[in-house]
Amino acid sequence: MKTTNSEKPDMGTLRKQKIACRLAEIPKKYRKIYKKAVEANNKTEAVKALCLECVCWQKNEIINCSCLACPLYGVRPYKKETDREPKKNAAAIKGMGRN
Ligand code: SF4
Repeated sequence: MKTTNSEKPDMGTLRKQKIACRLAEIPKKYRKIYKKAVEANNKTEAVKALCLECVCWQKNEIINCSCLACPLYGVRPYKKETDREPKKNAAAIKGMGRN
C-alpha cells in the first residue's frame, strides 16, 4: 500500500514518538537524565545518557570503561578520581610562555 506525505507524521511528532518508546525501555532511575538530554538539549546529560546506554545502564561499567579511543572517553561521567585531569591553575597558565 502506498502512503502519501499527508499520512506521514512530521519530524517533531516522529521524534516525540521515538523518544517515548526509548524512554519506556530505560530503567526508571535514569529516565530523568535521558529526558534532560532530549527535551532540554543538555549536552552534559546527553553524554551521560549516551554512556549509560552504551553500557546497558550499568554505571560501574562507565567508571571502568576501557574504550580509550571512544570520542566520549575524556568527557564521560562517573570517572575515578585518578582518571580526572587535574584542575588547571589559572595563575600558572597565565604565566606560561613568559620567560
Ligand atoms: S566513553 Fe565508554 S561508556 Fe562512554 S560511550 Fe564511550 S565506550 Fe561507551
